[in-house]
Amino acid sequence: MKSTIKTLKELFDDLFSLFFPNLCLGCGQPLIRGEETICMLCHFHLPKTYFHNDPDNVLNRVFWGRVNIEAVAAFVFFQKGSTVQHLLHQLKYRNKPEIGFRIGKWYGQELIYSDLFRDVELVIPVPLHPNKQRKRGYNQSRMFAEGLVSVMQADLEDRCLYRKVDSKTQTRKARYSRWENVENIFAVRNPEKIRGKHILLVDDVITTGATLEACARALLGVPGVRVSIATIAYASY
Ligand SMILES: [Zn+2]
Repeated sequence: MKSTIKTLKELFDDLFSLFFPNLCLGCGQPLIRGEETICMLCHFHLPKTYFHNDPDNVLNRVFWGRVNIEAVAAFVFFQKGSTVQHLLHQLKYRNKPEIGFRIGKWYGQELIYSDLFRDVELVIPVPLHPNKQRKRGYNQSRMFAEGLVSVMQADLEDRCLYRKVDSKTQTRKARYSRWENVENIFAVRNPEKIRGKHILLVDDVITTGATLEACARALLGVPGVRVSIATIAYASY
């Protein structure tokens, strides 16, 4: 019976979405059933990097000679004026945490088939300063991490790595001062929880890698830890 006749809930959902359609946060078109947050067409057109299948990708080189990272990957390329920029802007400034979760789920489904990432045991988001998190209501990197662990055989760990002091907004600073700014602001508590683990450190965007490098240094101070990195986007400027 159930396969041929719509349940009351499905009927109600259809009626509801006729008047109040859920819109794709990428293109603004109504979502169809089975789509969440971002439509299939937007997903299809995302400029994916496929870095997780390439151990010599350009992002690995960002950390050469700086800190020992196992593997580095980003889901998509960041381009100005693109759907990716639009999605990231809403994730950070327009109270749309579900974008981080949705993308994390998509990327997790790719990472579980990657030789470089499939043995990750813990996923750790770059921590926001508590003041910023209070203002935004959530940590966008943690939302990405939640999406990842919903499909990967790994646990979310968001308490061990923490931010010691507030750093001024970094957007307009030169690379050198940016590095000075973040060098010593992360630390690890309860190190026994991460000892000996392969950790996937995650953030929304990677540019110079300064923040991720500072986090990785703090994590690598714990014996036996290996660190890999995954971000939503790679901005190459
Ligand atoms: Zn769309």
